[in-house]
Amino acid sequence: MTTQFSFELFPPKTEKGMEKLKETVEALRALDPEYFSVTYGAGGSTRERTFATVEWLRSRNIETAPHLSCIGAGREEIRDILQRYRSEGIERLVALRGDLPSGAGAGEPGDFNYANELVAFIQAEFPGQFRIEVAAYPEFHPQAPTAWQDLDNFKRKVEAGASGAITQYFYNADAYWRFLDDCAKRNITIPIVPGIMPITNYANLARFSDACGAEIPRWLRKRLEAFGDDAEGLFQFGVEVVAELCRKLLEGGAPGLHFYTMNQSRATLAICEGLNR
Ligand code: FAD
Repeated sequence: MTTQFSFELFPPKTEKGMEKLKETVEALRALDPEYFSVTYGAGGSTRERTFATVEWLRSRNIETAPHLSCIGAGREEIRDILQRYRSEGIERLVALRGDLPSGAGAGEPGDFNYANELVAFIQAEFPGQFRIEVAAYPEFHPQAPTAWQDLDNFKRKVEAGASGAITQYFYNADAYWRFLDDCAKRNITIPIVPGIMPITNYANLARFSDACGAEIPRWLRKRLEAFGDDAEGLFQFGVEVVAELCRKLLEGGAPGLHFYTMNQSRATLAICEGLNR
């Protein structure tokens, strides 16, 4: 069976960024992905740009899964967005809570507190009309009080009607296997697809990982740091490490791979090309 790939994009801010995204999509289409997903900025901050990116992908007849985050949003607003996506032929969504942009603490609280409420809303308003992916955290969500509570909260999303999950990225495959075991013990049977973050820039990756609670193991940090200004050396090493992780995950039975492409094709192509599908 062919391994299913999906590729995540973010909506660009500039014309130049959009041109880059288009090139990236054309390059990655060669890998015959199941779909491309498009992120939705915190608190709806990229709303129009997400729409424009989704529209462009649909105009190219590309399977597209828009992300939708609910924190700070009202029911009306979410209903309108869902209506719009249905009329554009969208059949899959990535449903998230999201994080409010910093400094927005005093803003409108909105109608949703957690992603399970968004999933339940989508299923109530548009029953069975979307395949709903949700986020999963093999190394646990940074705000979760305990690992067990985070697993219980993940289960709430499944019970609300999620069809599949995509994980936060990780570099330690054991965290993913343990997470799958814990899900199985809770009778969670939806496919949980590993999220894969290619390594192309150490400083950016370290900053982002600290913020989202994804661990870069010490041995990997140390090696990446040691590349200093050698961007090409780091790139090649990053491809080797991440391709090895992907190989292990697929051999162990992962149901597919979801790549955080950062709107760049080179690393994702290099990693995927070495994989036996
Ligand atoms: P939830 O599942 O709601 O969980 C958030 C926290 O609340 C967890 O600690 C959980 O344990 C706890 N919790 C959940 N439900 C309950 C409950 N009912 N009662 C009490 N506690 C609860 N962010 C964006 O802004 N835009 C994007 O496009 C985007 N795409 C993403 C794609 C993927 C694959 C992933 C993994 C993350 C993405 N994010 C995105 C980041 C995400 O929004 C953040 O990680 C956010 O902090 C949590 O979102 P969630 O949907 O996982 O939240």
